[in-house]
Amino acid sequence: MLDRSTTWPYEKGEPGDFYYQRYSHPAGVEAERRLGELDGGHALLFPSGSGATTALLLTFLESGRTVAVAKDAYYGTPTLMLALEHWGLRMLEFDQTGPPPAGADLVWVESPSNPMLTLPDLDAAVAHSAPVVVDATASTPVYLRPLEEGADFSLHSATKFLGGHHDVLLGAVVCRSEDDYERLKEFRSRSGIVAAPDAAWLLARSLETLELRMERHTANAREVARRLGSHPAVERVRYPGFGGLMSFDVAGGAEAARGVETSVRMIRNATSLGGTRSVLETRARWEGDRVPENLVRLSVGLEDADEIWADLEQALGS
Ligand code: PLP
Repeated sequence: MLDRSTTWPYEKGEPGDFYYQRYSHPAGVEAERRLGELDGGHALLFPSGSGATTALLLTFLESGRTVAVAKDAYYGTPTLMLALEHWGLRMLEFDQTGPPPAGADLVWVESPSNPMLTLPDLDAAVAHSAPVVVDATASTPVYLRPLEEGADFSLHSATKFLGGHHDVLLGAVVCRSEDDYERLKEFRSRSGIVAAPDAAWLLARSLETLELRMERHTANAREVARRLGSHPAVERVRYPGFGGLMSFDVAGGAEAARGVETSVRMIRNATSLGGTRSVLETRARWEGDRVPENLVRLSVGLEDADEIWADLEQALGS
């Protein structure tokens, strides 16, 4: 049963396992246990992926320190880091397919990146002297366990594939070391960047079907990527071969891409990714010239692959 209590009675006059929700609550502990098992580390939940990023940066870096971030990471990540420059954080962007720059105090890569779908050189990243964060949102632990590859932190927007049903905003950091976990947990309790029990409960529910869902996302996405690749109205497809996230460039520029996003019927023209239903959108509206003007990001859902394709084909205009 979902326990939404904010306070629990002391046991024999002393705080027990649970005493105040900001420190921990049963649904959170259970979801963290399951995610920690999947990722092979110590998990902590946050109210969003961006909340997880904020907490990690503020816990492990101080004024004057430098974070080196993949230049094609989810655009909200460097945008948030820039906002923290106000507090003395320094940010460098680098090409994650090569080694991170010398002098960084924290290395931040994304596997695969959203929406350019590049894969980081993880060997080069972990060879750097600084701790390494891998945002594995689009891989999930089904396809990548960053801690096993030598990373220090695995970070997720659990709003995406982990939650998987378009009904929960949530983030997570999974730490390799118990010391890092304790430091981050202490900061989380102090700062109050804490996930609510309802969100944690929804994540625990979703993790039960994660592997099945990811297999289906992958099977559908492989088929859709293959067909997009030979469509005359598509200039380029980016898909790493696993997971449900891809992007493609529409021949004819921004206007043609906009025509595709406004013509889909079953697929939703909406933001976000990783849920049961397929969604797509042009990304230049959010990211400007960080992405091609005709790039459409597609999150392939769990529907029938032929139905997804039929909708895309009519939207592409043939
Ligand atoms: N990381 C990646 C790769 C994302 O795609 C997103 C959101 O789109 C985030 C982090 C931020 O997550 P949230 O929207 O849950 O704050």
